[in-house]
Amino acid sequence: MAIVWPCPLPVDVYAAAGRAVEFPRPDCPSCAGPLVLWSGYRRHVREAGRCWKIFVPRLRCTPCRVSHALLPAFVLAWRLDAADTVGAVLGQVAGGVCGVRPAAARAGVPYTTARGWVRRLRARGLELGTGFAALAVELGGQAIRPAAEPGRFALAAVGAAFAAAAGLPGWLQLGAWRFASSVSGGRLIAANAGSPFLVAGKRRFMPPVPSAPP
Ligand SMILES: [Zn+2]
Repeated sequence: MAIVWPCPLPVDVYAAAGRAVEFPRPDCPSCAGPLVLWSGYRRHVREAGRCWKIFVPRLRCTPCRVSHALLPAFVLAWRLDAADTVGAVLGQVAGGVCGVRPAAARAGVPYTTARGWVRRLRARGLELGTGFAALAVELGGQAIRPAAEPGRFALAAVGAAFAAAAGLPGWLQLGAWRFASSVSGGRLIAANAGSPFLVAGKRRFMPPVPSAPP
């Protein structure tokens, strides 16, 4: 299982820092006990047409016997492309700015890849929209009603939740898509249809921590 932390670092800075990034130590999402650094792995992330190899630490909860990958918010689980890249395409297509082909060209990703993201957003639009709309209200933001088009509803709800979160310290500089990745556990457009917003009856809403580049 992955925990996504609201990492404010640019991708290149994070990649260059390797294990020296000041990683947060969240509590175990299941039992709220302490997590200890266990190991880690490397994975790729593509941003602006470049591939970066990044270090992802693993944290382990001893009582639960479970380890969690600690992903930076600029990635999505099981996706090569950065959250901001995916978000830019989703925003343009679901927002009615342009079709998939020009959005994919602008983002520098294959057309079929971008089409897959948009399809997933539409398939999960109602569920995502409902989750983000509830989060927006919880954070004191604007209430969003479901739109006729599920993708557009999800987009509006992400926007409303981010606008509300941006009033809290630290979130504004992250941007909407790192925010969306953080609160959805990186599963913004994952196949899994479970509710990513609730973990053991508690919202997974980790506050950003000020983190200076090492
Ligand atoms: Zn635990």
